[in-house]
Amino acid sequence: MNAIYDIHTHKHFTQEAIINASLNDMPLNKDFYYSIGLHPWNLNINNIEDTLKNIESLASSADNIIAIGECGLDSNINIPLEIQLYVFERHILLSEKLKKPLIIHCVKRSEDILRLHKKYNPNMPWIFHGFRSNINVLKNIIKHDNIYISIGEKFNAETILNIPDEKILIETDESELTIEYISKKVAEARKQSHESFLEIINKNTSIIFKNT
Ligand SMILES: [Zn+2]
Repeated sequence: MNAIYDIHTHKHFTQEAIINASLNDMPLNKDFYYSIGLHPWNLNINNIEDTLKNIESLASSADNIIAIGECGLDSNINIPLEIQLYVFERHILLSEKLKKPLIIHCVKRSEDILRLHKKYNPNMPWIFHGFRSNINVLKNIIKHDNIYISIGEKFNAETILNIPDEKILIETDESELTIEYISKKVAEARKQSHESFLEIINKNTSIIFKNT
C-alpha cells in the first residue's frame, strides 16, 4: 500500500490520506483510501439501522475502505447519550468483525470510550482523532494499549509534548492547511526534527494498517 500520513481528512482526492466518506459520496474513487461511519452529528434516530446496514455492506465490499469512522460520542449535541452509545458500540463491533481500525470523534466523553475499550478489549487499533484535550485526559488514554492519538491544526501544546512516539498520528480533518504544514508545526512543538517525526508517523501508520 502507499504510505499514509494524513489519518483523517474531509478533503476528497487526497493521496497518502484516509478520506472520511459518507454514504452520499458513493461511488468512491478506487485510487484513494477511505473510512466510513456514522458521525454522531449526523445521527438521525429514524434511520439508524438502515444507515448502519449500508455502512457495513460498503465497508465489507470495498478494499480501499481501510477504517471504520469517524464515529463516537459528543457531549455537546442533543442526541441522547444512550443512542450515541448504541451507535458507537455497533461501530466497535463492525471494526472488529471487518478487522478495520476505528477512527473516533470524542468531545468530553473519553471516560465512556475508555470504559468501552475495557469492555470489548478490541484487537483493532482505536484512534482518537483531532485530539485537543489536556494532559490528564491524555494520561488516562495512554494507559491503554493499542489506542492512538491524532493531532490536527489545533492542539494543546503541553499535551502533545507528552504523547509517546509510538502513539502519535497527524491529520488535516477540516483544516485548509496542508498535512506538511501541520506535521512541521507538530514536530516543532514536540521539539523533534520534521524528518524524524515523519518517520515516526510512517512507522505508526504502517503498524496500524499492516493488513491493508
Ligand atoms: Zn472529521
